[in-house]
Amino acid sequence: MTLSADPAAIDRPACVAFDAEDPLAWCRDRFTIPEGVIYLDGNSLGALPAAAPARLRQVVEQEWGMDLIRAWNRRGWLESSIRVGARIGRLVGAREGEVVVCDSTSVNLFKLIIAGLRLRPGRHVILSEPGNFPSDLYVASGAAELMGAELRLVEAARLPAALDQEVALLCLTHVDYRSGRIHDMAGLTQAAHAAGALALWDLSHTAGAMPCDLAGSQVDLAVGCGYKYLNGGPGAPAYAFVAQPLWSRLQQPVTGWLGHARPFDFDLDYQPADGPRRLISGTPPVLSMLALEVGVDTFEGVDLAQLRRKSKALTELFLRLAGQRLAGHGFQVACPADAEQRGSQVSFAHPNGYSIMQALISRGVIGDFRAPDLLRFGVAPLYTRYVDVYDAVSALADIMASGEWRDPRFQVRATVT
Ligand SMILES: *Cc1c(COP(=O)(O)O)cnc(C)c1O
Repeated sequence: MTLSADPAAIDRPACVAFDAEDPLAWCRDRFTIPEGVIYLDGNSLGALPAAAPARLRQVVEQEWGMDLIRAWNRRGWLESSIRVGARIGRLVGAREGEVVVCDSTSVNLFKLIIAGLRLRPGRHVILSEPGNFPSDLYVASGAAELMGAELRLVEAARLPAALDQEVALLCLTHVDYRSGRIHDMAGLTQAAHAAGALALWDLSHTAGAMPCDLAGSQVDLAVGCGYKYLNGGPGAPAYAFVAQPLWSRLQQPVTGWLGHARPFDFDLDYQPADGPRRLISGTPPVLSMLALEVGVDTFEGVDLAQLRRKSKALTELFLRLAGQRLAGHGFQVACPADAEQRGSQVSFAHPNGYSIMQALISRGVIGDFRAPDLLRFGVAPLYTRYVDVYDAVSALADIMASGEWRDPRFQVRATVT
């Protein structure tokens, strides 16, 4: 889709007025965002919760420093995987006790793919799409190799037709990391079930950006990331969801002591704990876990339907302003035009996308770039303001009009894009 100017122009005062009427405006105070920065990359690394530094200082100095090993009991460290999991469970529509926090998204995916294949003996296909997040596909391919299974990739539109008797597991990311397109979770899960397969969803770009109804959609297995919209901090642990009816039969491959029913009996035989606790392998990363808990706290008292409304309004505004100010500069809209099908981000393709993003970042407008040519702007509804969107598009328009992005310093590729 190319950009075209909207007849009803929106100006900056209009955006200031949107912010004044925003019922979630108060949430921004739960974050520390540097002066002069417009942060549109909360879909990659959530902003710092204002409460995090003091909480982490307390954890380090008091809990670790003074309580030492006693903190495992006194401070609920051992229970943190379940406690924080329960809080995340409420953000994704899980039932009580279906979510646990442990490991990384990639590792949890590996565990659940193996477990999912074991739940469907006689079937050998993991079905996904080529546009899925590469790490998810690498992990699926590694797990397939180990299990003598096959990773089969078909285009999104052909997924329902590809659900045949061979498929054990439909493995998809709910919101696409590049285009922001939302899959029909309930519909595809139902199609997987009708074919006798299980559905495993990656919620990395869903949780904390929009409501999600795992229970209502009858999802079997899910994983997701802690450091994006959940604001858990760099490298925050991830979460895993297992629907209650599958608990008792679930066999994950990394059977460590903290997934044991009674770890402190030090039995010689492995006996899995009830519920998703059995997904835990080893000791939780307590400092990261408690930082994630502060991240999850930023959603306290927030109505997720309202969060979604704001998210849609922000991305809608972004696209309208882009239509007014960026037409003729070679951008193609690379996210769905229909807000219902769009996650909490907008994406544009541009042959000089990398350099344009570097020029923007040097002005303090932080989005990111995804190869080969995508500029990505995440709007985290808890802290992104309408006026931020306005100022970001203005900066982008300036950079294009002046040709600023052609500067040689914006052509050099960094490791993390
Ligand atoms: C961010 C993201 C991940 C991250 O995986 P890690 O193991 O935390 O590095 C995985 N899958 C998807 C879809 C993501 O968006």
